[in-house]
Amino acid sequence: MIPYYISKIKELNGMHLLHRYACASIPEDESDSILLGTFNSCEEALPAAQKIYPTSTGCPYCCRSCSK
Ligand SMILES: [Zn+2]
Repeated sequence: MIPYYISKIKELNGMHLLHRYACASIPEDESDSILLGTFNSCEEALPAAQKIYPTSTGCPYCCRSCSK
């Protein structure tokens, strides 16, 4: 199980990015991301992220299979 985070910062395209633990693209300031919990994959973490931000999508680096 891996911790996943959702960024509070909106990307230019209006999306919020879902990250795996230790991704280099997680916002530097801890207060700019929310710990969603631990999941087996980004496919499982994404619905949890979308409950907070409906426009959540996977980070293109750490969650490529969930990235749009
Ligand atoms: Zn990432």
